[in-house]
Amino acid sequence: MQRWPLGVFASIDAGLGVQPEVAHALGVPTIQLHAPRSRTPRQAEAFSARLRELGMQVTVVFGGFEGESYADIATVGRTVGLVPPATRAARTAEMKEIADFARRLEAEAIGLHVGALPHRAEGADYGGVLSAIREVCDHAGRLGLRVHLETGQEPAAVLLEFLGDAQRENLAINFDPANMILYGCGDPIRALGDVGPYVRSVHCKDARWAARPGVDWGREAPLGEGDVGMETFLRTLAAIGYFGPLTIERETAPDAQRQKEEIGRGVALLNGLKAKILNRD
Ligand code: MG
Repeated sequence: MQRWPLGVFASIDAGLGVQPEVAHALGVPTIQLHAPRSRTPRQAEAFSARLRELGMQVTVVFGGFEGESYADIATVGRTVGLVPPATRAARTAEMKEIADFARRLEAEAIGLHVGALPHRAEGADYGGVLSAIREVCDHAGRLGLRVHLETGQEPAAVLLEFLGDAQRENLAINFDPANMILYGCGDPIRALGDVGPYVRSVHCKDARWAARPGVDWGREAPLGEGDVGMETFLRTLAAIGYFGPLTIERETAPDAQRQKEEIGRGVALLNGLKAKILNRD
């Protein structure tokens, strides 16, 4: 595969992400897919056929769950991922179904926001989240898939501790530099260096720091217009040896047309940086 193929975050049904046809029109060969609510073998086959026609490849299928809320940072901690105890078993089962669906789409991995991870020292609940992610990893591993944890809802050191404790070879990271800024969880470039060996997919997303990081949200920005520093981000990816897909994620554009235009500008920006950085070595 070429180095740093571009990607976008896409969706089959309405909701997060753009349609695969939009990605194709922008000359983007890969997508990460937001898992649809309905995931029958027949729907997987129909979607695979649509992608084959476009010559596109799904790299990661991302799970998201009923009842999650991103209203504010505290609410994320209470509602997102495998961290809330009340929904953990059902969501673990759902991630296994998403792995079955991802396998049918010939994806390489499933991904999720595991939630705001507790610290190991917080005791029993840490063990519960660890068991849940191991169960998902073991199921995905039998299907030949990796499991990618989205970064940003905890500092890099907490994530590293969790990955080390999980002891699963197919557990990796989807690095999203903007999330580190949005949640106020640390400098994204330094964090990328710290978690480098685990990074198997990335989101190219940008954001501006909040006045009170970690208390208020930062603000998502079009790619290249935030505080990440896309050239430094790509150079750091090269330094850690990551040349997998660069998947553009644009979540909060005001409407579909603006989202498409901004992703188009993101594609142009990344193509320019790729030429500048890759042609030098
Ligand atoms: Mg992301």
